[in-house]
Amino acid sequence: SGEEFMSGNEERIYVSVRLRPLNGKEILRNDVSDWECINDKTIVYKNVGLSASERSMYPTAYTFASVFAYGQTSSGKTYTMTGITEYAIADIYQYIQKHPEREFVLKFSAMEIYNESVRDLLSVDSTPLRLLDDPERGTTVEKLTEEILKDWNHVIHLLSICEAQRQIGETSLNEMSSRSHQIIRLTIESSSREFLGRDNASTLAATVNFVDLAGSERASQSLSAGTRLKEGCHINRSLLTLGTVIRKLSKSRSGHIPYRDSKLTRILQTSLGGNAKTAIICTMSPARSHVEQSRNTLLFASCAK
Ligand code: ADP
Ligand code: MG
Repeated sequence: SGEEFMSGNEERIYVSVRLRPLNGKEILRNDVSDWECINDKTIVYKNVGLSASERSMYPTAYTFASVFAYGQTSSGKTYTMTGITEYAIADIYQYIQKHPEREFVLKFSAMEIYNESVRDLLSVDSTPLRLLDDPERGTTVEKLTEEILKDWNHVIHLLSICEAQRQIGETSLNEMSSRSHQIIRLTIESSSREFLGRDNASTLAATVNFVDLAGSERASQSLSAGTRLKEGCHINRSLLTLGTVIRKLSKSRSGHIPYRDSKLTRILQTSLGGNAKTAIICTMSPARSHVEQSRNTLLFASCAK
């Protein structure tokens, strides 16, 4: 919930749960909703669901380093992340307008991780990208396109390219989006105009990752053979590693954190540990037919906290 996000500034991992309403298909097949949001803190296993607006779920952009949507396929991850990303960028533009004394540069990039292989969503070239270890910046993605944002229309244009790229995969590889992780990365650099061009000009940089995860059913489902099995294992690896990393981080920031066990956690390493802020929105379907996955999602949410 929004409240959950706003409170507890000391917290570095925020976890919230979002329950979507029943959709037309579910209503048509006479599925029923078993869950109810009683208030900001309570979802009961019972009846019709309510949903919070993206705006109330989205706190100040520059404090968060990564925002995740976790949940089974069709629970509302993409719906939620799309809303949050748009609101976040709009808020950043508002912030920029209020600070004419600083010069800002916004950089946008987008990638998809599928079968532990990283693809640039802003490039037509689908050659897998390599990860490089940079001593200063942590893990970087080699040759990843970075667009300097011009204005709001440019944002909308880039978001639609990402969506189209993901949809290409969806038709050719059978709902690939439910099996891949998408990361939209925004870097905000700013420097004081007064000192611009001087040696002592300091630049502030913040990176925010908007992560639309693969369907969480992939982490529990046993898949049969061949490609599917390999795919299942890889998604398993990224989602399971993410779960382990987040659980460990929420308990203590010391000790071994297995970032290197998956591409997703390697890419996000600098945005997960240290002083980075992490928000996880666990989306769930209200439908009775999805009750098992909804339980798993709530379990994940409670373990992440
Ligand atoms: P996922 O990305 O988890 O597979 P989607 O975001 O594609 O799920 O959502 C599945 C469907 O449910 C979409 O048609 C979407 O528009 C709808 N939906 C998801 N969340 C909500 C919500 N909170 N309110 C209304 N409709 C929603
Ligand atoms: Mg989706």
